[in-house]
Amino acid sequence: MSQLNIETLVSDILAQSVFSPNGKVSSHVGGAGFETVNSAINAAKLAFEELNSSPISVRSAIIEGLRNELVADIPDMAERAWQETGMGNVSDKVLKNKAALENTPGTEDLATQALTGDGGLTLFEYSPYGVVGAVAPSTNPTETIINNVIGMIAAGNSVIFSPHPGAKEVSIWLIDKVEQIIFDQCGIRNLVVCVSNPSFEATRQMMEHPDVPLLVVTGGPGIVSMAMKTGKKVIGAGAGNPPVIVDDSADIKKAAVDIISGASFDFNLPCIAEKAVVVVDSVAQELLQAMEEFGAHWVKDPVDVERLRQVVINEAGDANKALVGQSPAQILDAANIGYQGQPKLVVASVSADDPLMLVEQLMPMLPVATAFNFEQALSIARDVEGGNLHTAIMHSKNIDHLNRAARVMRTSIFVKNAPSYAGIGVGAEGFTTFTIATPTGEGTTSARSFARLRRCVLSEAFNIR
Ligand code: NAD
Repeated sequence: MSQLNIETLVSDILAQSVFSPNGKVSSHVGGAGFETVNSAINAAKLAFEELNSSPISVRSAIIEGLRNELVADIPDMAERAWQETGMGNVSDKVLKNKAALENTPGTEDLATQALTGDGGLTLFEYSPYGVVGAVAPSTNPTETIINNVIGMIAAGNSVIFSPHPGAKEVSIWLIDKVEQIIFDQCGIRNLVVCVSNPSFEATRQMMEHPDVPLLVVTGGPGIVSMAMKTGKKVIGAGAGNPPVIVDDSADIKKAAVDIISGASFDFNLPCIAEKAVVVVDSVAQELLQAMEEFGAHWVKDPVDVERLRQVVINEAGDANKALVGQSPAQILDAANIGYQGQPKLVVASVSADDPLMLVEQLMPMLPVATAFNFEQALSIARDVEGGNLHTAIMHSKNIDHLNRAARVMRTSIFVKNAPSYAGIGVGAEGFTTFTIATPTGEGTTSARSFARLRRCVLSEAFNIR
């Protein structure tokens, strides 16, 4: 072993040796303090073994502790995330973090199935994987960590995070807090870990580590495909480009309000947020006027629309990163377009094949294309969605149209007559998730997604029917 490796090992061991409240020699004083990926995973492996030999009530106590203790930190957390990433806005980040903390399912999600008959009893149980490797994005850094920690620990795992390097300060701050709360609840250290200096290289090492059997990757297409190349089990929560369909039966004013609300939420950073509108011709003007009435800035002059295109899409045909998660005013300023007040959203009429429709922008700039009729709108929406099978939204009162669109779009989330965030349990039924597994098919993930389904058989007994 080289001198450097020995020093790293010694410093990791020294950093990790403390006494827990129950008197056991436990490890580490902060889950985010590891110098190497290897030492973090080794510690998480020991922590998993401790959790795995503990009753399920320990997991429930951990989750209750997190819900009770972290709530007071949410405003600070939102502020830190905004300061560090420079994207989105604090008030919406508060709502997103609250939803993750309060509405992510815990151990109750692991519902057992049982079969009984003359042959006896067979159980299907959700069991842990071990150490989960989780990648978090810059767009929802703390929300994803909270959501994943609750779901992964509920399923009985420990977790090593690869936070986004662009959100590493707030992520490390949060992981240390989470670790302390967990330790206070159960005396187990290192159920949630990461390295002290998150990097792309650390992410690569985590993905390839033999003691990480499951990778849960929330981010863009690059990082999801990188994980898939490892040959491991991957839950991939990749990019989307959610279209909104509006047909001529819709309540147009409500549609306008809902679309503005969803598309402007955290300045359009959520992957599920409305990214493009397809509206049938006969109600297009009415919709745009209603959006203007309810606070959107409608860019009407084609010269201005071209300016917008120039600043939003870069030469490579991707979204301009400098404008991702910026305010409508900042986008209009960048395009040198005049406006009054503080617009909630920027909208512009474009053709269906405009790059503004087809590129995932993650900014409060909503292109609007028109279609002759519902069938054409559906066909355009499919193209806009781009086969991500992520999210689509529709405003309509026509049951046949809604039914057909839900079937044809084949998205993991399909929201009817509501803002997109209804699809993750905000203002609607259902639990919250910030990891929507699209390419790998788990959809809106929860504890059971992070568990292995195992079959346990007892022959010729315990059938009491
Ligand atoms: P990103 O892809 O830039 O980063 C995601 C993570 O991957 C980060 O931790 C980053 O450090 C890491 N990463 C990226 N490229 C890497 C590489 N080559 N090697 C190693 N690590 C790498 O994503 P982002 O900008 O933070 O997030 C936005 C994207 O994530 C959008 O496309 C959005 O749709 C998607 N997203 C999807 C979901 C979902 O649930 N499906 C949720 C949030 C975000």
